[in-house]
Amino acid sequence: MPYLDHAATTFVRPEVLAAVEPLLAKLYGNPSGGHAVGREARRVLDEAREEIADFCGAPAQGVIFTSGGTEADNWVIDGVLDAAATRDKHRIVTTAIEHKAILEAAHRREKWDAEVIEVGVDALGRVDPHDVATASRGATLVSVMAANNELGTIQDLRAIAREVRREAPEAVLHTDAVQAAPWLDLAELTQGFDLLTLSSHKLGGLKGTGCLVSRTSIKVAPLLVGGGQELGLRAGTQDAIGAMAMALALRLAVAERAEATSRITSLRNRFLAELHDLTGAHSTVEGANVLPGHAHVVFPGMVAEELLVAFDRADLQATAGSSCASGATESSHVLKAIGLDRAAVRGAVRFTLGHTTTELDIDRACSIIGQAVTQLS
Ligand code: PLP
Repeated sequence: MPYLDHAATTFVRPEVLAAVEPLLAKLYGNPSGGHAVGREARRVLDEAREEIADFCGAPAQGVIFTSGGTEADNWVIDGVLDAAATRDKHRIVTTAIEHKAILEAAHRREKWDAEVIEVGVDALGRVDPHDVATASRGATLVSVMAANNELGTIQDLRAIAREVRREAPEAVLHTDAVQAAPWLDLAELTQGFDLLTLSSHKLGGLKGTGCLVSRTSIKVAPLLVGGGQELGLRAGTQDAIGAMAMALALRLAVAERAEATSRITSLRNRFLAELHDLTGAHSTVEGANVLPGHAHVVFPGMVAEELLVAFDRADLQATAGSSCASGATESSHVLKAIGLDRAAVRGAVRFTLGHTTTELDIDRACSIIGQAVTQLS
């Protein structure tokens, strides 16, 4: 079964499964419990926190666990604005291709106390650091994703941090690194940024775990109040096993990064070349710096929904638009932002390779896609 939807979610890594299974029975303590069982859960939780912090170039206390990327992204918007000293209207600067977890959370604040500027991108999905910096003057928060979930396009975060710091030294800088995390060095990538969002299930960890990482000492208002867990920022009994699984998945991704990047990049390039020869499909963002696993393509004259049904019948998984949106039939704000014409949008499909993808998967996928395109043409 050629699963090519790794950007939506990926397989739990076998090492993670092996580590989690015995703990489900053994590690039942509440990390806040003041006894040996609680202390053991606290130790597992804190080790995970320290390890993730280290990979992000953040202090250990900078990692606050959440239920995933959506929660951390939503929290950034409200937490940064609510903690800001100013009572004036806030300016949030972001991009037109952010995940909806950022865009909707930002626009929700327009009713009360914020204006939102969505900086546009070019045809390859790249934002100009200078445009971000110009829009950032007087901003409370600037949020630019590290790599886009639909296209895979990687932003120049270093240049963005440099330019925004010059124009808006007071602004809090956040990046959604959910898609970048399996592939890019997070500490290096996020230099100059205050905050980053991560999600475990994109790394081969478990669903339902993510974190907001703070590399600096900026203030973020609490997301959940109650028992005071997570430094009083996100109350609720913590999931030490989920945290451990996330740290382990990230460690494995980091350890195999060099090998996986070259293996998956060459598989992806072969896939794109064969798809082109077989069907005339072409990369939507030809020439962009994209994540190794992303192959976003346009099938000229075809309808993506029909193709996806045919793929699904043949056990090939892919997606149109972002699969976080249920059904994904609504037109993608990302494809609109890069100015793709309507005919191309209709035939646009995202395939994403990941840590388990093999040569055989690509062979199978090409054959299924070739047959589907022939049948539907
Ligand atoms: N941000 C990006 C870029 C994503 O791709 C996703 C999920 O696809 C999210 C945030 C949401 O993460 P989660 O599924 O952990 O809520």
